[in-house]
This record gives sequence, structure tokens and C-alpha cells, in this order.
Amino acid sequence: MSTIDSLRKHVHHLSVDIGPRGSTTPEEKRAAAYAEDIYKGLDLTPITEIFAGAKSAWSPFTISTFLVLVAEIVFLFGGLYGAVIASLVTAFVLASLILELSFKSNPLRWILPKGLSQNVSVAVEPASEIKQTIVIVGHIDTHRTPISHRSLRWFSIFNRLTTLTFVSAILLLLIFGVQIFIAFEILRLITIILCIPVLAIFLMAISADFTPYSFGANDNASGAALTMALAEKLAKEQKLFCKIALMGSADAKANAEIMEEYKVLIDKGQEFIKKYGLTSHDKIRDAAIKFCLSNPDVHSVCPTLNSFEDLEAFTALSGTRLDAEGNAMLADYESGLGRYYCRHACGHCEGSCPQGIPVNTIMRYFHYFAAQGREKYAMEKYSALSRNRADFCADCTESSCEKACPYGVLTRPLLAVAHHNLSFDNPLYT
Ligand code: SF4
Ligand code: SF4
Repeated sequence: MSTIDSLRKHVHHLSVDIGPRGSTTPEEKRAAAYAEDIYKGLDLTPITEIFAGAKSAWSPFTISTFLVLVAEIVFLFGGLYGAVIASLVTAFVLASLILELSFKSNPLRWILPKGLSQNVSVAVEPASEIKQTIVIVGHIDTHRTPISHRSLRWFSIFNRLTTLTFVSAILLLLIFGVQIFIAFEILRLITIILCIPVLAIFLMAISADFTPYSFGANDNASGAALTMALAEKLAKEQKLFCKIALMGSADAKANAEIMEEYKVLIDKGQEFIKKYGLTSHDKIRDAAIKFCLSNPDVHSVCPTLNSFEDLEAFTALSGTRLDAEGNAMLADYESGLGRYYCRHACGHCEGSCPQGIPVNTIMRYFHYFAAQGREKYAMEKYSALSRNRADFCADCTESSCEKACPYGVLTRPLLAVAHHNLSFDNPLYT
């Protein structure tokens, strides 16, 4: 069975045979059991984790806004004690929401109606050494169809109302607190106005749980089905995905030549990695930073930080210099792979391209994509280049940019691959 047929089969089973699979429902459990069976049939070892989850994603909104509305009523009719109780309840709600937004446990979570739910996970081991681990997630449960998800306009209204509700709750807490000490009649009226967005969110949230589940492809079946179909494909082929995209081109011969050149780059890269025992990108990155710091004219470097681990790694490099081993490695990198690396902020070759292609800018975006793991950002930047993108490079017969480059960078194949990756134009992953 082809991957597409397998995908269709899983979508059909999840969305038609089982049907809507609300969180913590028996249908969700059946869908998890189905995924587990599929993985077991592939001789994989699935792990099913059972946990207590909220029955509805909407209940935190419903409960918190309901409590604020109750606080308002108590405030309006309860005199001094009412103001004290309203302050305490609103403070409780706000503290819980702030903790919730920081993904921390909070009292609101403890009182949510819960049921048992489950995650099913599986690892597909590669045939050889692991070079990269990719986690692919598909939701197995089905969402409801609240008014806030009816259109982008409604979603935007909902988003704004939630912000307004949060701000209103803060202002309500302040007013409730002030009223304990000094009674201002005007403030009582203001609290009624502040409760309008709170009431709106309450109504939207409570009505959401009475709406039908979404159906067809929108019921999340496609994401869950994809993870199963992919597991089948990978288990058969025992291949790992990597980030390098092969591409199609209008000219098959040009395409073949480009891929041949690109393959040389990959092979050379692998040789280099083996020679220096580079089990991670860190060693060469550290050497590059030290190289910059070794230059007496450089006072600081400004690297991209993607995680706290990066921050720690870069901080540890402060004040260091390149040693003999690092020097040798970088020199070797330059002599073996320098032709595949476009120097940042150079642009020397750009005037020679008859199409006016911004070679250096595109190569920099490709660096974000391939070396820094910022694929989405790189693709956005590339798509914002309104003209003179690298569409022509695959079929360019002049390669004048290549001839003009003082470092001999193989710009044409690199630009062609960059274009196909950054524009997601007919990509094939291998
Ligand atoms: S490969 Fe050709 S079209 Fe592309 S930048 Fe170089 S000269 Fe211009
Ligand atoms: S390809 Fe060569 S000349 Fe062109 S920008 Fe890159 S390093 Fe400079």
C-alpha cells in the first residue's frame, strides 16, 4: 500500500469509523488503541502514557470568567464584606491565570473537571548512526466548533476580548481593593462596564462545549494519520529525514549537474566531520567564535541564540582564543569546503549577475535555513524579496557570479538549492 493510500485509510478509520474523538472520551481512547495497533503491526514498540486531562479546553475560561462575574455580584450587593470577598476571588483567578500562562500548576487546574486521556508515542530507529532526532506530533482528539473558530474575524475578536478580559480583571481587583477602604459610587458603575468583556468571554466559552465536533479533514484526523503513515514508511525504509532538500528543475540536465556538485559538498562535509570527530556542530561553531575573538580588531561577537544552552556555550567562550588545533581545523575547512561557503556581507560578485540577483543576501538566508535551524524565518525573509530571487540560477548558463567570486564559491548550485529550499518549490526530502 502506498503512503498516500495508507494515509487515506487512517483518516477514514479515525474520522468516519470512530468519528469525533473529544478529549478524554471513549472514542479518543479507541483512536489511541488504533494507533498503538498500527505501530505494533510494524514491529515497533509504542508507549502509551495515561494521564488525567481537562475534559474541555474551554473550562479554564468558563470557570475563571464565571468566578470574576460572581465576585462582581458579591461586590455590588455585599457591602464592605462583599468588596473583601470580591478582591480575594479576583486575586485567586488572576494568580491562577498568570501561573497557567507560565505552564505552572495552579488552583484553577485542580478544580477543572478531568478525565483520563492518553498519548501514544513510538521511536523509529535509523539503520545507522543517529545524526538528528525529529519529533513529529499529531493530535488524536477532535476540537469543537465554537463561534471563535468560525472565521479569522471571529478569532481575532476572541483574541482581543481575552486580552481585554485580563486587563479588566486587573482593574476590577484594584477597584474592589480601593472600595474596602474608601467607597466611590462612580467606581461601582465602572466595575459594571469592566465586566462586559468578561461576560462576553464567559458566554463564548460556555457555549463552545455545546457546539458539535468539527468533522472531515478538520477533525484532526489528518495530523494523527500522517504520523502513522510516516511511521510505516520510515519503518520500511529505516531512513532518517534530514534538512537537505533535493529539487526538480525545468532543465533535467542542469538539475543533475547541480545535484552532482551538491553531492560533492555533502561528501566532503561528511569526510571533514569524520576526520575531526565532530559529533555535533558545537566544536566547529566554538572554533569560529574563537577565530573572531583572536582578531585584535574584534572586541565582541554577536551570535544567534536559539536556547539557554547556546547562551551558556557562548558565555563560556568569552575571552578565549583559537588554539593550534582549532586553527588547523578552520584552515582545513577553508581549503576543503571554502568553495561552498559564501562570505557574509561580501557582495563582491553581485554586480556581475545580469539578473541583478542579491547573491549574498540569498546565501545568508540559506545559512539561516540550513545552519541555524531558522527555516520559517529564512523562508519569510526570502519570500519578502519581491524580485530577483534565485529562480534563474538552476538554468543559468553564464554563472558570471561564480567567475567573479574571489573565493571561488560555487554559487550557481548553492543558489539553485537555496531557491528550492527557501521557496519550498517542489521539494523532495531524502
Ligand atoms: S547563477 Fe547566474 S542568474 Fe544566478 S546569480 Fe549567478 S549569474 Fe545570476
Ligand atoms: S559568492 Fe563570493 S563574491 Fe559573491 S557574495 Fe559570496 S563570497 Fe562574495
